[in-house]
Amino acid sequence: MVKVGAERKQEFNKELRFKRQADYDINQYELVDHEFKAGHRRVYKNLNFSIFVDDYCNADCKFCVAQLRYSHRKLLYEKKHIEDRDKYLERLENVLKAVRTLNPSVSITGGEPTLSPVLPDILELVDRYDFRKRTITTNGSGLLMVRDNATVLEHLMKKRWQHLNISRAHFDDDVNRQIMRYQVESEYCDSQMLKEILDITAGTELKHRLSCLLLKDGIGSVESMKRYLDFHGKLGADNFIFRELMDYDKKAVNLEKIKYCTDNKIRLNDIWGQLDNDKEFEPYLNILGYYYYVEIYKYHNMTVAGESANLNQQYIEKEKHRDTVYEMIFHTNGNLCGSWVEGEEILDEYQER
Ligand code: SF4
Repeated sequence: MVKVGAERKQEFNKELRFKRQADYDINQYELVDHEFKAGHRRVYKNLNFSIFVDDYCNADCKFCVAQLRYSHRKLLYEKKHIEDRDKYLERLENVLKAVRTLNPSVSITGGEPTLSPVLPDILELVDRYDFRKRTITTNGSGLLMVRDNATVLEHLMKKRWQHLNISRAHFDDDVNRQIMRYQVESEYCDSQMLKEILDITAGTELKHRLSCLLLKDGIGSVESMKRYLDFHGKLGADNFIFRELMDYDKKAVNLEKIKYCTDNKIRLNDIWGQLDNDKEFEPYLNILGYYYYVEIYKYHNMTVAGESANLNQQYIEKEKHRDTVYEMIFHTNGNLCGSWVEGEEILDEYQER
């Protein structure tokens, strides 16, 4: 049985880099039985429950993963919402109660979740039911905005959030702006604002991680990764993840983003090959997931992860084990699904009364 989470064995097995999912077998992981409204399923024990708060984002990243997940399925990225705030929260609370026994970790994502007026209520609910390992993924822009008499960052700390993932494509604000394409310039999270956020969270339970997509026209080499790390290290950051653009269906519909991703892809295997000979990077741990693979290094006093993911592999794996739930997503229309698309793998369908 493969140990995961806090029990994970700390080892770096370089062979995994080349074998990847050829070595993945869900039956080697602990699975638990669970009755959903849609019926009986086997559930991956260390699974994550994502709350997809809103599809609205004030940026329009050239590589937006949230949009590509839909394009990959030849769908338009247009989500239905439970418009009434009370009904939305009532539904979320019911779903939280229903999945609590599975003890999932919780992630809040979007779109840009920090811009949602309902976020403080969501944080309150997740805290009330005492979920473990809480993460939010954000472009940072709404963290210092005041909602219900406190900044979003203060709400996160008060409600015992532990992980703050901030997306930032480049250390140079001008280049970062060009890649992330903010629609509202005044909301842009620049390096000064990022420093303020890092200063506020320093020494607290809320641990940051800066997330950077590897791109030919952004950070695309070991040299530029080091500049990214050194620059943000001076701002107080010490935890990073570099992601490879996901593999997706090339016949998908969002032509602009797909062309950008095809033209700009940097292969992590090439980067990792160079890190093998770089004394500044010390291998620490590698992790194989059902459609992703992660290598973690120590770089001076920093922790640096690299992650590659393959959306085709995700669907192949799930097709092989249709009774298995690998992750759960609460969608804006109130559906609880095993998929990032709200009409797929519905585990508990929302019926509006
Ligand atoms: S910040 Fe995130 S959700 Fe917004 S456009 Fe960029 S990748 Fe997409």
